[in-house]
Formats: sequence, structure tokens, C-alpha cells
Amino acid sequence: MAKHICKHQPRILMYHRFSNPPVTGWASPDYFDRQVKYIKDRYNPYSLVELLQYQREFGKMPPHAVVITVDDGYRDFYDYAFPILRKYNVPATLFATTGFIDGRLWLWPDKITWILERLNYIPNDFLINSLKVKSGPVDDNGRRELWKQWVAHALLVSDEEKHVFIRGLADRLGLVFPDSIPGAFAPLSWNQLHEMQAFGIEIGGHTVTHPSLGRVSPAQARSEIFGCRDVLKEHLGERERTFCYPNGQPSDFNDLLPELVREAGFLGAVTAFPDAVGTRDRYLMRRHVSGDDMFQFHKAVSGVEWLGHVLRREYLLKPSYIADEAE
Ligand SMILES: [Zn+2]
Repeated sequence: MAKHICKHQPRILMYHRFSNPPVTGWASPDYFDRQVKYIKDRYNPYSLVELLQYQREFGKMPPHAVVITVDDGYRDFYDYAFPILRKYNVPATLFATTGFIDGRLWLWPDKITWILERLNYIPNDFLINSLKVKSGPVDDNGRRELWKQWVAHALLVSDEEKHVFIRGLADRLGLVFPDSIPGAFAPLSWNQLHEMQAFGIEIGGHTVTHPSLGRVSPAQARSEIFGCRDVLKEHLGERERTFCYPNGQPSDFNDLLPELVREAGFLGAVTAFPDAVGTRDRYLMRRHVSGDDMFQFHKAVSGVEWLGHVLRREYLLKPSYIADEAE
């Protein structure tokens, strides 16, 4: 039933990290294998750029399309996910943060994780960037709480303040970040991206430094989007690609950004949340979370999650609405 109603509503799945042994929220090779096989057996898998090329050619979305997308450019994609995609011959889109691939920067939440992994005790209270940090012992629960609190704080402030905040945390806690990115947070290499692109993995754009584009100046947003496009072209050749807004929540983009992404030549772009809009707006296409939760995976891939948003919107906006057309 859902499959029929959702026939021309592609589902775009969003992954971040892969691991073995399993880590909560990350896809283990075992789960990912089952998910890719399920998609291959029942749906039509596309990379995001192929999906939009199909739409351009035929004037509509392909039937029963599912797109696997993976953000950021961590090396675990090559180690765990790529062998499975190759095994089932399923395409996908990987959104690469080019400064990260170049080894010039860590992805900032990893710096917070790195600090917390080294923290057993906070010697004294301090105030940083208007956030109070309390003294005392730190256990696993405490680390989880602090991670949430510090990441939430970093997401609220400007890009520049965010870096000052994270550097300040390390300073106050007597820690010095290593010069190169530690293995657990390491990026893919350009050679690996090359190999995967040759197989049919689309390498899409995800900015140069992974800021929230909603919190930087228009000039900076432009240089993040165009700069990332140019680096991808330099290393991987000229071809059509798509784009992904870092963080991807409503506050991470504004009206200007889809226009900039289009001007840079990207064929489309994705956010990081689902709602009733689905894939209707090519430069703000919605995505569904996937990872280690099979229930969430089935809800997303079947279209039930999207349908839920459509029904919720219809009933909330039009209480007396009688469904007489399928979206
Ligand atoms: Zn990202």
C-alpha cells in the first residue's frame, strides 16, 4: 500500500559512520549488508545525481527509487560500506568535506569527542563563551551529557565563536590537539575517492570546512560552496554532482543558499531531516535517518515515514481534509 502511494516519491537515506564492532547509531557491516540487500531486492537504487539526471531526462522521478547517501568523508566508508555496495552493485552518494579530505582540519564534533575521551576530572568551575562548566569527576554518563551540551552550544554560536569555544575548552582542560587527525576520526584519501567514483559512487559536495552555512556571511558561504566544487573538480574531474548542507537543519540554511548551490553548478542539494516536502524542492531535498535501527530503516525505505509527514501536515493544516488525491 505505502509502496504504491510512494511510487514516485524517492526516499533518500542518510548515513554518517560505519563500524565493526557495532557502535550505537553507526551502521555495522552486518546491518548495512542487510539494508543494501533489502534495497537491491525490492527497490531501484540510484546515486543522488543519477536520480536527478533521470528526472531531467524523463520529466519525473523514477519509480520506487531509493538513494543511499553518506555524509562527511570518513575513512570507515571505504573500509566497511564500500565493499558491501560493490558486492551488491548498488550506487550511493558520498558527500565529502574537502578540507577534511585534504587532512587540513578535523570535523569539529570529533574535537569535542577527543577532549571528552581524555577527561576524568574537571579541576575547577569555569565559564567559557557564556557556558558554565562545573568541576568534579566525569564518568561515561557525564561524558555523554557534556557531549550533548557542548555540541548544542557550538551549534548555536557563529562559526568563528565555535572554533574559539572548542579551542578554549581544550586550553582550560590542559589538552593540546595532535597535529594530524587521529585514526578514529580519519578521512578518506583522494585515491580512495577516485576508486569509488570509478565504481559508480557519486562524490558530492559538503563544503570545505563544514560550517553551518546559515551562520556564516554570504561571502563565506559562497567560498565554502564554490571552493568545495573546485577542489572536487581538481581531484576527481569535471562531472555533475550534488551537494549537502552541513548539519542540514532548518537553521543551517537560508533563502540565499539554494541559489548559490545552483549557481555553482550542483544539480541538487539535501537537508538532514524528513518532512512532507520530500524531494519536491530539488535544492532542499529531505532525507531520512538510517544506521543501526532496522525499524527506522524500514519506516524510511518503505515511504511510511514520508507518508506520516504528509498525513500530519494535511490533518494539521486542514482538519476537515478528506484525502481525495494521493501525493
Ligand atoms: Zn556533515
